[in-house]
Amino acid sequence: MRTVDIEKMVRPNILALKPYSSARDEFSGNEGIFLDANENPYGTLNRYPDPHQKALKTKLSEVKNVPFNQIFIGNGSDEVIDLIYRIFCEPGKDSAIVCPPTYGMYEVSANINHIQLHEIPLTSDFQLDIEKILQTAETDSSVKLIFVCSPNNPTGNRLDNLEKLLENFNGIVVADEAYVDFCPEYSLKSKINKYSHLIVMQTFSKAWALAGVRVGMAFAGEKIISLLDKTKPPYNVSIINQQVALEALSRVDEFEKRRDTILQQRAYLAEELSKLEIVKKIYPSDANFLLVEVSDANRIYNELVQKKVIVRNRNRQVTNCVRITIGTPGENEELLNKLRTLV
Ligand code: PMP
Repeated sequence: MRTVDIEKMVRPNILALKPYSSARDEFSGNEGIFLDANENPYGTLNRYPDPHQKALKTKLSEVKNVPFNQIFIGNGSDEVIDLIYRIFCEPGKDSAIVCPPTYGMYEVSANINHIQLHEIPLTSDFQLDIEKILQTAETDSSVKLIFVCSPNNPTGNRLDNLEKLLENFNGIVVADEAYVDFCPEYSLKSKINKYSHLIVMQTFSKAWALAGVRVGMAFAGEKIISLLDKTKPPYNVSIINQQVALEALSRVDEFEKRRDTILQQRAYLAEELSKLEIVKKIYPSDANFLLVEVSDANRIYNELVQKKVIVRNRNRQVTNCVRITIGTPGENEELLNKLRTLV
């Protein structure tokens, strides 16, 4: 158990914000005559969405086993990343830690918000360099938070030692679990009451197969959730987004079936790839992709593009590596056939 004074970490202008509220909050559903928001009275999607996303949060709370007041819903987890910077980091003054190779939006969003980054690379086995992280946070008081991604994109492995980090790091720890539904037993979501400075991010974009819908979420202590709620645009998640995510949550069996197929295909693809001469190494993965070291990543990437198969060239982050998303059985077979023609 570690209780960190969250309010001390928040930018003063954010702390002073009042939460969004409307008299409509007192009504459920569509009862009442709503003449307060300059909507058009005609049509089917004429009303603004529920800014508190009550129906979706209620169902999520049940499926994810996280209390309602400890759930935040964002327009994809990319929005959550941006909000976290805005809440905790003063532009041009504060800094954050990222551990490359990792998800690129932590850097893009830091650049947009004018937040300086400390890059502390993962070790050779793609784990956190805890000593260096703690040393950096200790010597630079501008460090307000750290992003850790587990399972990590693009390496595919989950990070050990996250509890050690939580026990010792004094800023906000953001655990990005975009891929955790592929290995749910490793989620940190059950620790949000143990560590008041932990934010766990998840998404509907991966195992839930809804990248087009843009719904991400954060689980944390109530203080952090209310800060996220105050900082978001009131109508950040559309009615359609909320409905589609809600419907997906009521079809858990379908979700599990698809996820199991992807996991089987991941094992099959890894086995078949390992038989190819151009493949030097396949990194173990807990996600829906494989990081694969090949003889020449640039050439293989380009030759695949010529054949209309797009993988991700990760050569600049991990030498001679491509990241391959697990597709349908048919897509995976086509990829293998095309790779078999390369020498
Ligand atoms: N985190 C990680 C680690 C990701 O790989 C991605 C998407 N590639 C995201 C977050 C973004 O998720 P969303 O679609 O919910 O914005």
